[in-house]
Amino acid sequence: MPSDPRRALVLFSGGQDSTVCLAYALDRYAHVETIGFDYAQRHSVELESRLHVRSHLHEEFPRWAERLGDDHLLDLSLLGQISDTALTSERAIERNAGGLPNTFVPVRNLLFFTFAASVADRRSLEVLIGGMCETDYSGYPDCRDNTLKSLQVAISLGLDKPMTIDTPLMWLDKADTWAMAERLGGEALIELVIEHTHSCYLGDREHRHAWGWGCGLCPSCDLRRKGYDAWLNS
Ligand code: ZN
Repeated sequence: MPSDPRRALVLFSGGQDSTVCLAYALDRYAHVETIGFDYAQRHSVELESRLHVRSHLHEEFPRWAERLGDDHLLDLSLLGQISDTALTSERAIERNAGGLPNTFVPVRNLLFFTFAASVADRRSLEVLIGGMCETDYSGYPDCRDNTLKSLQVAISLGLDKPMTIDTPLMWLDKADTWAMAERLGGEALIELVIEHTHSCYLGDREHRHAWGWGCGLCPSCDLRRKGYDAWLNS
């Protein structure tokens, strides 16, 4: 039996963090749907990873399969009109003068949660779950705990009913996230995360490392490798 009878919607990109969030949600909530956003990412790899991860979770974890509901994919290509950054163009990944990575799309996560809330209301879902993390602070103020707590209040007021924003990774580091995956789904979930999730900014699916697929050099691969090594050595 789930420990929480509510129905949840996971912001699911197909990456490591949102996959662990999806496992967390399936372990905890009675019914779980997923939502993804298509915003002219440079690589369709991420969108394919979403479907692979969902189908493998369904096949390999029967206790979760009956709770896993529909997937929703929203076209947010309009973000490309707003922001010319490394996420939406072929520009190299660099840090700008303000210290923010140029993958930064201003208030992107607030937009994602607000669109998710709109879908959640139509689907009678009461909890929004995202893999935002303040511990590995990477320059994204829209990922901070206070930002998302205030958004939870704004969305709940705007809907005139409670909408919970649950961020299970908020105070974990990357090693903790691997440990959480192991606790939730054992070796099978670790293998699924390594083989099927995608984090690399360059969309590299040619180089396989102990920690998964990726170029091994970009900031996202670097973070993933360091977290994996720290978890193994913990
Ligand atoms: Zn990479």
